[in-house]
Amino acid sequence: MKHMIILFNELKWVGLLSVLLILIGCTSEETDESPLPIKKSLPLNIVFLVGDGMGLSQMSSAYFFGEGEPNFSRFPIVGLSKTPSGSHKITDSAAGATAFACGKKTYNGAIGVDMDTNDLETIIEELSAQGWNTGVVSTSSITHATPASFYAHVSSRMMQEEIAKQLASSEVDFIAGGGYKWFCNRSDSLNYADTLAANGFFLDTNSIDAPWKGGDQKPVYLMAPDGLTPKHLGRADFLPTATKRAIDHLSLKEEPFFLVIEGSQIDWGGHSNVGEYVIQEVLDFDKAVGVALDYAAEQGNTLVVVTADHETGGFTMASELKTGPYRSMYSDYNSIAVEFSTGGHSSTMVPVLATGPQAILFGGIYDNTKIHRLFRQVGSYNAGNKTKL
Ligand code: MG
Ligand code: ZN
Repeated sequence: MKHMIILFNELKWVGLLSVLLILIGCTSEETDESPLPIKKSLPLNIVFLVGDGMGLSQMSSAYFFGEGEPNFSRFPIVGLSKTPSGSHKITDSAAGATAFACGKKTYNGAIGVDMDTNDLETIIEELSAQGWNTGVVSTSSITHATPASFYAHVSSRMMQEEIAKQLASSEVDFIAGGGYKWFCNRSDSLNYADTLAANGFFLDTNSIDAPWKGGDQKPVYLMAPDGLTPKHLGRADFLPTATKRAIDHLSLKEEPFFLVIEGSQIDWGGHSNVGEYVIQEVLDFDKAVGVALDYAAEQGNTLVVVTADHETGGFTMASELKTGPYRSMYSDYNSIAVEFSTGGHSSTMVPVLATGPQAILFGGIYDNTKIHRLFRQVGSYNAGNKTKL
């Protein structure tokens, strides 16, 4: 009797194994031997969300100060990115974003150029040339260092009028952020709002919530003269709304899309050493992440990657210190008092979260430039490149 039970159990496992093998057999057609499947029947999209200045502590704050489980928890793959620039142990946002956009370490302040100020092709330029549609969204001016590094080439991040000029003649298909003064109220008195219109863009400076009035033209939402209002001072749902608008617009087309979304002001909260500023910006960014993840889950072939260019402020989730001679004895381990150690950036590694086709490639510890390489590698599937990843 005992032997029969063992035999039965073994048979059960053999049966189960057969079912599993059949299931694997059924799906192998779609997977191309990849660790996570790319579905050949659908365009492969990439949504890249950058929390400027969002170190691990900033991300952690969403778990203590938000409501419910943050969307960050929805990513199965986690990596760490090493952020130093080509010129400094501690990067600025220009060199940090150029590493993502162009795959090269460059000097602090550089936008889309190398150490010798030569232009580097950005991922947006490269994918546009392959027929992808592209979008750029930020809560800073759209001409600020992070978004600019994806479409512009200038030797200094300070050259925002030149950056606006380059955006007005770029291949970008969807734009949302702040910064209309760099187009319309310039030191050279030129009007690049006209250039935007001449190049097929429709500029809306009134509302991102109103129904779209621009027909087939490419949307440009610029909602402030420069950066947008900080979240803790009253900005509404601009970032999640712009993320939704961008995805709605770009997914209408048959071609794949690459969309970069920046939560710009996590960094500004860090520079100003205001905990509430940082936390509200992180929670707002997490909402935008949720919008991207919802779309990815529904569409089924979208790689979503979240990371930061660097950490800002030396932000920590410290235990509240009470008065007394021994710091650890007089810390309240049930009360978090966020603290900062600098008004600038720090050199700490930053988290990378990934989900979707080939997300597994984003695990590990690597230079920020590798993220660009992986986007190109994964994106090459749309160009018919079936090189084994
Ligand atoms: Mg930025
Ligand atoms: Zn900064």
